[in-house]
Amino acid sequence: MILFNKPALTGKEEQYIKEALQSGHLSGDGHFTHRCHIWFEEHFDAKKALLTTSCTHALEMAAILADIQEGDEVIMPSYTFVSTANPFVIRGAKIIFVDIRPDTMNINEALIEDAITPKTKAIVPVHYAGVSCEMDTIMELANRYNLIVIEDAAQGVMSTYKNKYLGTIGHLGCYSFHETKNYNCGEGGALIINDDKFIERAEIIREKGTNRSRFFRGQVDKYSWVDIGSSYLPSELNAAFLSAQLENADIINSYRLDCWNTYYKGLKHLEEVGHIQLPTVPENVVHNAHMFYIKTADLEQRTRLISFLKSKGVHTVFHYIPLHSSSAGNEFGEMSGEDKYTTLESERLLRLPLYFNLPLEEIKVVIEEIGRFYIAES
Ligand SMILES: *Cc1c(COP(=O)(O)O)cnc(C)c1O
Repeated sequence: MILFNKPALTGKEEQYIKEALQSGHLSGDGHFTHRCHIWFEEHFDAKKALLTTSCTHALEMAAILADIQEGDEVIMPSYTFVSTANPFVIRGAKIIFVDIRPDTMNINEALIEDAITPKTKAIVPVHYAGVSCEMDTIMELANRYNLIVIEDAAQGVMSTYKNKYLGTIGHLGCYSFHETKNYNCGEGGALIINDDKFIERAEIIREKGTNRSRFFRGQVDKYSWVDIGSSYLPSELNAAFLSAQLENADIINSYRLDCWNTYYKGLKHLEEVGHIQLPTVPENVVHNAHMFYIKTADLEQRTRLISFLKSKGVHTVFHYIPLHSSSAGNEFGEMSGEDKYTTLESERLLRLPLYFNLPLEEIKVVIEEIGRFYIAES
């Protein structure tokens, strides 16, 4: 069986967890959490990084920081995971879905302006497959209409847009370290804060609405309840695990890119004869090989290909059911303009196995089997 995903392990995870156990400090914001924060701040030139329990929770913090209120509108693609939308719905916002571009599956930046109303508070670009959205256009719109940009960079850790790391371009950025992502600790995330004015409140929200972070730094002599908040900080065990992954981020990244390039080269001939489409990476964008997908002719062909590959022991996966066509999406949001590509393209997309240390021979098997499928189809 060729598995779709295996969480990365780089070797130091157990040792760091042992060190955390020996330190006697297992709750959040100890030595390893600090190490992770410094890593993002140094490597990505991020103003402030805060580990969270998930990307979903980082987005919840972002929704509170953006002061989302009942009746506000938040713009995002419909082609995304539910966690892009839920944190804003919880705060009472209405979600305005915008169609995607078929080439990158990212929000179509040219359609965003039409979706802006006096109620719009934020734009949430999702960097699908770790390939950046057109951030210059999005930031220009946000400045012109005074909107907050929250990057859902769950899939985009280590990717760049015009030499800037994803997550550090908008006012706020959110990362995921779920086991399905490039760098993981089982469940985890981070909030990246790129605008100074959010830093102090972010620390408070993350610590149950208390000013405990300031207390630990000796800036106040007791801590108390000062704002709304929740428990958004992960334990040191998770941070220790993540620390090992971040130290080896370049190794993980380059291995994943080798996988991605092997697929791309091996499947190019099937694109050239018009059987499938391969992903597009725009100029100015460096991606992190978060996933490799192909697009089939249509939904029926995808269904046939999935079962063909399954019969050959190859596990493939598709997603997402567009949010605007789900029951909750219908209740909490609406599509702005036409759904020209979201549904159509989501039905054609198929993700192939890709994980750190997936043997390249197995990728060659997947490529061969896809080739055999299309010989049988035509
Ligand atoms: C994985 C993912 C999330 C959620 O991440 P968690 O860490 O599991 O909460 C949010 N948005 C996108 C686009 C994702 O891929």
